[in-house]
Amino acid sequence: MNDAATIGLEVPTRTAGLLEALFRRSGVDGLHARTDRFERVVEGLQTLITQHREKDVEVLRFPPVMSRRNLEKSGYLHSFPHLLGAVCCLHGDETAIRAAVDRPDEKGGWVASLAATDLVLSPAACYPVYPLAAERGPVAGKGLIFDVACDCFRHEPSLNIDRMQSFRMREYVFVGAPGQVNAFRARWIERAQGIAEQLGLSHQLAGASDPFFGRVGKIMAVSQMEQELKLEMLIPVRSADEPTACMSFNCHRDHFGEAWGLRCEDGTVAHTGCVAFGIDRLALALFAQHGLDLVKWPRTVRTALSLNP
Ligand code: 5GP
Ligand code: ZN
Repeated sequence: MNDAATIGLEVPTRTAGLLEALFRRSGVDGLHARTDRFERVVEGLQTLITQHREKDVEVLRFPPVMSRRNLEKSGYLHSFPHLLGAVCCLHGDETAIRAAVDRPDEKGGWVASLAATDLVLSPAACYPVYPLAAERGPVAGKGLIFDVACDCFRHEPSLNIDRMQSFRMREYVFVGAPGQVNAFRARWIERAQGIAEQLGLSHQLAGASDPFFGRVGKIMAVSQMEQELKLEMLIPVRSADEPTACMSFNCHRDHFGEAWGLRCEDGTVAHTGCVAFGIDRLALALFAQHGLDLVKWPRTVRTALSLNP
């Protein structure tokens, strides 16, 4: 029995069909090998997002792991400890490592000897950029814009096709004065709606909150929602009634500025914001909307994704 058959019991046939056609199973929920058909669309999406890039944007591609200290300093550990994955390894000399490897399963196996390293799995593409920006000194008047991407990890195993533990995120990030961040976000909300239309995707914008941890987290989420600090573009993947967040538009206010000592030229704390594209979700949304046969997709959509010969 394959994943699609198992998952077909839980989710509508439509997404079971998607799963089977676009991915190969890994044996772990929310972790898939992607097929050529899926990757062609992913590449088209990346190119399309690049075509919409503004001028004077610095491009950085991050590894899927980042500095543990930097993520802690960003406040992630306190806000989302339940989603965080850390890289652990076997430490010590040959004898210690051999003993760990040979420890029987009933005594905890090798896993019992794992200890943390300096690395965590990046939970979003923009975290590594703030310390880099801060190192450069005061932010020039027009602000800084970055184009960043990485494979992200969030510890949320799920049978839902649109919730992956490992997924690709592309972001544009702005660092500068508060008004500039708002303007950046407003420009991108409009541009992103244009992209969704180019792609023939039905979409709606909605206020949202991040999945902050615990009871205190609930209060933070309410406050984030009230201040409209996070908006999401919802696009049907599993169902039209419960559309999936495929892009997000975030204002962090002075959160990262304070954490990293980011300053504007006038000495005020820099504000930051980001627009995030969930690449795997966008690709899934395209297949859910237009079907599995790329050749049958509307010509305009194929052109937008550079799929035409
Ligand atoms: P955010 O930081 O706003 O939670 O995530 C940014 C974007 O990453 C989301 O809008 C979404 O498209 C994508 N994303 C977030 N969580 C997941 C997930 O579990 N699976 C996949 N495939 N994409 C996700
Ligand atoms: Zn971000």
